[in-house]
Amino acid sequence: MSYIGVLIETKDKKAKKSNFGIITAACSDGSSDVCALMFDDSAVDNKEILEQYGITKIIEISSEQADLNTSPDLKAQALVGTMKTLDIKGLVGLSSPAGRDLLTRTATLLNVPSALDCIGVDFSDHTVLKSHFSGKAIARLKLEGDYFICGIRPNTIEAVEKSGNAEIVSHKPEISGKPGVKIREIKKASSGSVDLTEADIIISGGRAMESTEGFKILSECAEVLGAGVGASRAAVDAGFVPHSMQVGQTGKTVSPKLYIGCGISGAVQHFAGMKTSKVIVAINTDKDAPILGKCDYGIIGDLFEVVPALTQALKG
Ligand SMILES: Cc1cc2nc3c(=O)[nH]c(=O)nc-3n(C[C@H](O)[C@H](O)[C@H](O)COP(=O)(O)OP(=O)(O)OC[C@H]3O[C@@H](n4cnc5c(N)ncnc54)[C@H](O)[C@@H]3O)c2cc1C
Repeated sequence: MSYIGVLIETKDKKAKKSNFGIITAACSDGSSDVCALMFDDSAVDNKEILEQYGITKIIEISSEQADLNTSPDLKAQALVGTMKTLDIKGLVGLSSPAGRDLLTRTATLLNVPSALDCIGVDFSDHTVLKSHFSGKAIARLKLEGDYFICGIRPNTIEAVEKSGNAEIVSHKPEISGKPGVKIREIKKASSGSVDLTEADIIISGGRAMESTEGFKILSECAEVLGAGVGASRAAVDAGFVPHSMQVGQTGKTVSPKLYIGCGISGAVQHFAGMKTSKVIVAINTDKDAPILGKCDYGIIGDLFEVVPALTQALKG
């Protein structure tokens, strides 16, 4: 029986929560076994949590020839070697910056197509679901080839617990050549301590925030909620906050459980980036603002009154 490999992304050697939904997606295909693929020597630390989502095998990939975590092309080479040796025919990962990079390099080396930013996947017939035209259309794409490789938008697939007992297997594939690219330093963008693409809750501000100072009330509320702070393009273009906080067609695509849009009109380009949020709350003074027609809960009111009141209520 061939395997589906799930690329596990870690932060400070801890598996990110957003991996668990893609493990669930991989486990939903009964015809293949599912294994977790890890690169950073953290399999033992993450064994228990991965078992909780049904992982029965963790493959820890390393190399004595090169530091794979600073050499993206050699990392892809090592992954391809592992897939070929261990009969891993399906590969799924997060459509995060790191996931996109590795999945694409891997597909290129295997000379097969790949699909990124998918919102659904079916391993049995090698199809994926992707959102197109700012979320107005959903396409089902079939990928042809001996290997099936896709990246899933973080948080779009609900994680389901499923008990399992995982064995850890160390694999050191042969790699050749020198790294074409070497990562020397990773600088974190200034979008707060919570990564928007992984956040369970996001509170975003639009043009109505008026200034950088105005965004402080969102940061205060976010702190209480454990949320990330996002922004519309109008707020970014006005220089209130950096582009790393922008949500939308030309910003980040997010799928939190709760999205609170404050002083955001709800343009189609903004919706393209947060449409798959589970619950959308909008705070707007204009009862005719488009976002109020598309949200789950609308509050017609001044955000400068509503947000601090919400923060106080949450603190209480
Ligand atoms: C190619 C292209 C790509 C784009 N990409 C993106 C993108 O990635 N992300 C994105 O966001 N936009 C994007 N846009 C821009 C998009 O079309 C909108 O212009 C933008 O989203 C508007 O931002 P806004 O809602 O903050 O501002 P506005 O449309 O000006 O809305 C402000 C809202 O605040 C409300 N308001 C005012 N004062 C208050 C108050 N005190 N309390 C509560 N509510 C108040 C108003 O009623 C209004 O609804 C893109 C546009 C194009 C053409």
